Amino acid sequence: MADWDLLLTNARIATMAAKTPGYGEIEDAALAISGGRIAWIGSREDLPDGDAAKTLSLEGRWLTPALIDCHTHLVFGGDRSGEFEQRLEGASYEDIAKAGGGIMATVRATRGMSADELFAAALPRVQALAAEGVATIEIKSGYGLDVDNEIKMLEVARRLGETSAVDVRTTLLAAHTVPAEYQGKADEYTDLICNDLLPEVAARGLADAVDAYCESIAFTAPQVARVFRKAGELGLPVKLHADQLSDGGGAELAAHFNALSADHLEYTSVSGAKAIAESGAVAVLLPGAFLTLGETQKPPIDELRRQGVPLAVASDCNPGTSPICSLRNAMMLASRLFRLTPLECLAGVTREAARALGLADDRGTLEVGKRADIAAWDIHHPRELSYWIGTPQLAELLLAD
Ligand SMILES: [Zn+2]
Repeated sequence: MADWDLLLTNARIATMAAKTPGYGEIEDAALAISGGRIAWIGSREDLPDGDAAKTLSLEGRWLTPALIDCHTHLVFGGDRSGEFEQRLEGASYEDIAKAGGGIMATVRATRGMSADELFAAALPRVQALAAEGVATIEIKSGYGLDVDNEIKMLEVARRLGETSAVDVRTTLLAAHTVPAEYQGKADEYTDLICNDLLPEVAARGLADAVDAYCESIAFTAPQVARVFRKAGELGLPVKLHADQLSDGGGAELAAHFNALSADHLEYTSVSGAKAIAESGAVAVLLPGAFLTLGETQKPPIDELRRQGVPLAVASDCNPGTSPICSLRNAMMLASRLFRLTPLECLAGVTREAARALGLADDRGTLEVGKRADIAAWDIHHPRELSYWIGTPQLAELLLAD
């Protein structure tokens, strides 16, 4: 029997390992894979004797960890291009809301579609991400907003992972917005989440994490705290949409509950950044929403850096505020709008994105023992992955299974 299933040679590698400086570059490298895991990695001249069932020369191409999109809402019904057009033609947000637009339009469309229809609509989005080197995608619910429709969304997300080469991680985001039938009764809707939905989702193993939107237009900190306490009782890790439109203490709330990540953070204060740093949570930056909303308040990047907070970058793919089904474009925007370095952008969609999903020990870097999800690129240097705009450079996506 061969020592390795696959041996990759004549490659240049950016390991993105935390313990190595920069990109962790290895010139003239080799990488051996066994059982879907990295069995050996290093300079070709140091490669130990061994046979491989198959050997592949990369012809000098760069290898990086396959990309990870750690924050998406890519299962949804309809789209909001009509509102987009109306706004650019002069309609106000108020006009659109009065006409039944906004997130409620997405909720109505999502509720109105069958699981098969939602699956068919979402599959091209998964394929678009995979085509640019993404091997792991987090998908949130949050447009169903009742027990049956939230479960329908999570089942569709699970099915997308089972039927495509991409690995999908699912997140219950029932606390996304208060549904129309509970207007003025957010506490009662929170009861429904805690008493009915969360136990059912946990019992059926449909979610890998629980998320909430803490904002004046969504849920208060005490309501989010109830959802997070229940998630904790059920053994589910939490994440939070925090401080996107105002400083509502979201960063502190996420830190208090040992969240895997605090996402958005445009209005996070210095003390909020410190709280995240102390908790070990990842800051997930979402420049697509920042761009689409015409936001001018940037996340406190310098303070997050000073505090040593890991920075991840994600597409936030959703029909309202971030119709960007491209993680490469999110990297491009993070470098232009938030001044992240190309190294920070690449770490943000590999190592730190894995950490934001609680998968740091399993993937996100090219190291022995890690899952062999590998992207091969036609580039001269990995910094190009943030530099080029709208330029597909993926040569091949090699997946562990
Ligand atoms: Zn989001």
